[in-house]
Amino acid sequence: MRTRQRGVALTLIICLTLSLFLTSCKRSEDSWKWLNAQKEEQRRQEEQAALEEKKKRDEELDRWEEELNTTEPEPVDYTYRPYVWPEEELTDYNGVVEHLMFHMVIAFPELAFDGDGYEKTYDSLTVTVNEFKRILQQLYDNDYILVNLNTVWTERNVGRNQRRMVKNTLRLPKGKKPLVISIDDPCYYESYFGQGFMEKLVLDEEGQIAAYGHGPGGQIVSRDLDAIPILDAFVREHPDFSYNGAKACLSLTGYEGIFGYRTNTITTGMTEEQEAFRASEIEAVKPIIARLTETGWYFGCHTWGHINLSNKKYDVDAIKRDLNRWYQDVGDLVGNTVIYLYPNGAKPDGGDDWHKTGDMFKYLQSEGFRIFCSMGTESFATEKTDISAVICDRLHADGVTLRNSRQRYLHLFDAKEVFDYDVRPDYGYDFSDPEE
Ligand SMILES: [Zn+2]
Repeated sequence: MRTRQRGVALTLIICLTLSLFLTSCKRSEDSWKWLNAQKEEQRRQEEQAALEEKKKRDEELDRWEEELNTTEPEPVDYTYRPYVWPEEELTDYNGVVEHLMFHMVIAFPELAFDGDGYEKTYDSLTVTVNEFKRILQQLYDNDYILVNLNTVWTERNVGRNQRRMVKNTLRLPKGKKPLVISIDDPCYYESYFGQGFMEKLVLDEEGQIAAYGHGPGGQIVSRDLDAIPILDAFVREHPDFSYNGAKACLSLTGYEGIFGYRTNTITTGMTEEQEAFRASEIEAVKPIIARLTETGWYFGCHTWGHINLSNKKYDVDAIKRDLNRWYQDVGDLVGNTVIYLYPNGAKPDGGDDWHKTGDMFKYLQSEGFRIFCSMGTESFATEKTDISAVICDRLHADGVTLRNSRQRYLHLFDAKEVFDYDVRPDYGYDFSDPEE
């Protein structure tokens, strides 16, 4: 009996345990199902959220794309449209026309002022890019306005068979003073390569004049390192700095071509290869000349060989030969000009073209030149009375005048504020204030 009772009890315990176990299993199965459902729901929600997120992103992308398509950067319009003043804002001007000359500007002062044998020459003859920009700004702030040298005089009949250059009354915006700028030797001579100057003019991807060259960091195309594109940009920014769209006179020699293109002939004869190279350079420079012309630049003759006209070794024949080569290598490309700019400011016929009219002068005049430019201590100009021609002196912005002639240039700009103290060699300067 005891054994049976024990058996029953054991069976009961087993059954109870089993039932408890099964119940627990059932519960656990339920809770597992519930958990799964929870997870499933969470996953579904996450998926939904991801889908919504993606949809939102796609919509945003579409919006961006749409925006990009509609707000594609307006192409900058580089058509050259000179500023036009209403007639009532113009007034007669009969005073001095200032004439300021520059050479090529120094793009990389660390190369120009590196202590080599050329340093002193570049310091004397040129200004740096920063000085050039500061000078333009001061000229503008001082109410100067660029005019085309060709518009300052007109050749007129003044008597029977007598033609003379007569100064025009300029019509300028009230308060503005006329200024001619000329840039001598923008030929990008090979002797300047590696010396801190740009090496040729090019058209950049926007069809604008830019300059190509090599700086300390390698080759570069820029509109910010050469006088020509810098003045272009300045006039674009300040259209009222230019009357009738005038920029500056580019004073060209021919012996190494123009604007960095070797359009020059070689007198000792040229091989077929050299002829072909010259022909390709001529084709390459044509669009540059066209763009310069359509944007207000004009050209003058600076002799073919940069010859010093006061040197006794040159006679009329030599000047004739030089001019004929200039016509061939430069004039044929840039067109006619009445402007003749003496190299080194050296006048022909023994150095006096004011009181005398020598054979060289007569020859050059007979070739069509009417405006003869030298250099001097003021913007002096006078119409000759015995022949149809004007002679004028130009001021020259360079290291020499920056360092030594602050007072003479103060009406145009202040050398003290323009001078590139950080990069110029330590050759001294005199910036004392004007005497009261
Ligand atoms: Zn020169």
